[in-house]
Amino acid sequence: MKKIDLENTAYKKDDKKNFIRLILDIIYPQNLSCVFCKMPISRSNKYSVCKSCYDQMVFIINACPKCGKPIINTSLKNDNDILDCDYCRNKSTIYDRNISFLEYEDKSKHLVFDLKYNSKTFLANNISDIMTDMLKEIYPDVIASIDYITYVPMSKKRSKDRGFNQAGEIAKRLGKNFDIECLDMIDRTRDTRKLHGLNADDRKRELRGVFKVQDDYTKYLEDRVVAVVDDIFTTGSTLNEIAKVLKLSGAKEVIGLTFLTGKYEKPIIEYIE
Ligand SMILES: [Zn+2]
Ligand SMILES: [Zn+2]
Repeated sequence: MKKIDLENTAYKKDDKKNFIRLILDIIYPQNLSCVFCKMPISRSNKYSVCKSCYDQMVFIINACPKCGKPIINTSLKNDNDILDCDYCRNKSTIYDRNISFLEYEDKSKHLVFDLKYNSKTFLANNISDIMTDMLKEIYPDVIASIDYITYVPMSKKRSKDRGFNQAGEIAKRLGKNFDIECLDMIDRTRDTRKLHGLNADDRKRELRGVFKVQDDYTKYLEDRVVAVVDDIFTTGSTLNEIAKVLKLSGAKEVIGLTFLTGKYEKPIIEYIE
C-alpha cells in the first residue's frame, strides 16, 4: 500500500473534510491511472500521465517574457520583444512577469477542474511537479531570484465549502520542491462575485482593493522578490491587484507562477467609416 507521508501533506488536523479526503487518497492511490483519460499506467509514468495524453499536452516553451502567454507570431526581428505580444501591447502591469506552463485547453483545464471541484487534492502534486521541472529547465535564474512564494487566497465562504485552496496546495508543494518558504500572507478584505464570465474591465473593478498583505508579513517584504501562485491566468487582474499590495509593502519584484494560460485572441475590431 502506498505510504502516506503525513508530515508532508498540507491537511489540517482538525479539518474533517480534509481527513475524509486523506482516507480517499489511501483507498484510491493516485498513481495507478492516467490523470486525464484514466487508462491504467505504471507508477513510473511522469506526472501520472499516459504516453498518449502526455504527447497531447501543450507545454508553453516559447512565451512572452512579460505575461507568459505563448508567442504565436514570432517576428524575424526579435522573438522576445514584448511589443510583439498582443496581450501586452499598450498595457502596463504592476507585476513584473508571469510564467505559465501549459496552454489552457480541454485536457489541461480538466486537470485544474478536477483538483478544484472534485477535490482531487493529489493533483496539486502533479501540477506543481510539472511546474517544477519546467522552472528548472527554462527559468533557473528566475527561480533562484525568488525569496518567498505565496498564493492567491480564496474567499472565506468558498474556502469553507471546498475545505482547501487549490493555489495554496500547488504553492506549498512548489515551496518544498525548491526549498523556498511558502507563506500564506495575502488576505481578502471582502468576498467577490464569481469572476467567471466577467470581462477584463469588470474583473478589474470587482477586484479593486480586495487583497491585503497580513500585517505580520509586511516587515519581511522590503526589497524581496515574491512569487504568486495561481491555477489559471485569465485577464491578469488578480495577479496585478496582489502585486500592488505586495509592492506597497516593500516587495521589489512580483512574479506570477500560473499553471495555465490561454493564447491571446486578438479582439476583432470593426471599423465603421
Ligand atoms: Zn491518458
Ligand atoms: Zn505578453
